[in-house]
Amino acid sequence: MKKPFSIAIHGGAGTIHKSHMSAKKEAAYKAVLTLALQQGYNTLSEGNSALDAVELAVSALENSPLFNAGKGSVFTHDGTHEMDASIMEGKGLKGGAIAGVNGIKNPISLARKVMEVSEHVFLAGTGALDFAKENQFTTESDDYFYDELRYQQWQEALENDTVQLDHSPLKENKFGTVGAVALDQYGNVAAATSTGGMTNKKYGRIGDSPILGSGNYANNNTCAVSCTGSGEFFIRGVVAYDVSCLIEYKGYTLAEACKEVVQNRLLKIGGDGGLIAVDPNGNTCLEFNTDGMYRGVKKSTGEEFIGIYK
Ligand code: ASP
Repeated sequence: MKKPFSIAIHGGAGTIHKSHMSAKKEAAYKAVLTLALQQGYNTLSEGNSALDAVELAVSALENSPLFNAGKGSVFTHDGTHEMDASIMEGKGLKGGAIAGVNGIKNPISLARKVMEVSEHVFLAGTGALDFAKENQFTTESDDYFYDELRYQQWQEALENDTVQLDHSPLKENKFGTVGAVALDQYGNVAAATSTGGMTNKKYGRIGDSPILGSGNYANNNTCAVSCTGSGEFFIRGVVAYDVSCLIEYKGYTLAEACKEVVQNRLLKIGGDGGLIAVDPNGNTCLEFNTDGMYRGVKKSTGEEFIGIYK
């Protein structure tokens, strides 16, 4: 008999009100979420690894301009795109991450490459790009990443001299760091997270998404977690690892651990956002303290859900 398997995805948390969403736009978001979820689920059902599933699901979200990752990445202060991503597997606690990388179509695949073929875990900037070229990653031109709405967001942020989180209350239009967590038929969990970061970011700002333990974490003894929200708080709260620690050291269930971290610890330091998580039994949790989070889950038990609002 096949062992149970599950996948959950997110496309960012934030101020997401139904009143700001047309039926057409909502359908477009749901279509991409469904596609990403289905691709990840299918690969699990064919007997492939949780790592394959999270990479595939996140790539599908990166390829859509609707989300702030890959193609839809926000503009930096200098008008470029600097993408961050990380991936981790729960069996051997192996991980790979890249930050501040420009021109790569699927940053999550580059993070996986770092994990699999380099002797390192985390590569940044031009060095990460050199590594990408050595490993036959092709780069896309700036045109590929151009999106009119992202451009307008950047112009507004420039005018106001602000740095905006994609899910900031001021920006109700688009949200969108993306992530996936999965449990495969062999009992292994994995997590992947990818983002364009904050609109108008400068000084080489890096958020939580590529930081193992903060925005992304996987451990077969506990869970796999992918986060989205105000990265600075997720870094300070070591959020993804905190969920795992509550399970490992305090015996919390997945649901209890996610709730404690997102609704209590994170809020106490002023952090807004959410996370998705899966445990080795296939339980999933989609927890957020914002108005909404683009999210979805699909399990071998037949359970399936796609949601946006609270
Ligand atoms: N956590 C991401 C960052 O701070 C942003 C997000 O989740 O939307 O870069």
